[in-house]
Amino acid sequence: MSKKENASVRQAEEITTDNIFRVHSIKHLTESTYILRFDRNGMKFNPGQHITLGMSGDKQLREYSVYSPNNVDYLEVLVKEVAEGHVSKRLKKLNHGDPVSVEGPFGFFTLDEKKVATQSFLFIASGTGIAPFHSMVKSYKDIDYTILHGVRHGKEQYASEVYPPDRYIGCTSRDEEGDFHGRVTDYLRKNDIDSNTLVYLCGNYEMIHEVYDILTNKGLSPDNIRTEVYF
Ligand SMILES: Cc1cc2nc3c(=O)[nH]c(=O)nc-3n(C[C@H](O)[C@H](O)[C@H](O)COP(=O)(O)OP(=O)(O)OC[C@H]3O[C@@H](n4cnc5c(N)ncnc54)[C@H](O)[C@@H]3O)c2cc1C
Repeated sequence: MSKKENASVRQAEEITTDNIFRVHSIKHLTESTYILRFDRNGMKFNPGQHITLGMSGDKQLREYSVYSPNNVDYLEVLVKEVAEGHVSKRLKKLNHGDPVSVEGPFGFFTLDEKKVATQSFLFIASGTGIAPFHSMVKSYKDIDYTILHGVRHGKEQYASEVYPPDRYIGCTSRDEEGDFHGRVTDYLRKNDIDSNTLVYLCGNYEMIHEVYDILTNKGLSPDNIRTEVYF
């Protein structure tokens, strides 16, 4: 084999092993938010971890929490399109069979399995920050949890029907379609929290920062709080 042929074989091998996963489906939940499902290819992950994902051949990858549980043979992410963004609007146009670039899993925003059996969890999310919690509660069947989900409008309570109604509290700040009218911070100011609860916060920085202050002012130990900042 000539040097040139050898190089092209090597290049082809690099391409086929370039973490290319195939899209199964895309489900649009609102005009801007969708669930993208693609191959799992045997990837092992702990619920709460994220992957990096992008268009095949594009070096720009972004972090996305795994939305799907770890007991199914596909991966899903819950993505909100950022109008001026690079990756999220391209992923939105994908179709069945299209390739995507995937790396991971990464991160430590996970649950201690021993505590899953013994403790209560409060999961606080803004927007698509609910993604890792979906993966957690669908992976650990007996987990004792409440999700507090902050969105602007009721239609952004992404797939909230998959949670038992007594475990999901939707806080809507711009309409009254949620269980609570206002932001998650308003809800937390008005409600007590058991000091043994383990609290996980995921979403935008401002929400996480404000909630952290409210919870610690209410006496919750910082050791009981974990955070994952999206932007
Ligand atoms: C650990 C981690 C996990 C993440 N998981 C998810 C997830 O599960 N689902 C998800 O939708 N996003 C998630 N993100 C955000 C995601 O990585 C991208 O930042 C987002 O999709 C925008 O990428 P883009 O290329 O379209 O925009 P870019 O070109 O990268 O950025 C455009 C601008 O949009 C801002 N931005 C990013 N996200 C949002 C948002 N939701 N609303 C408004 N502005 C935003 C960025 O800060 C930036 O200023 C996660 C981020 C991190 C760090």
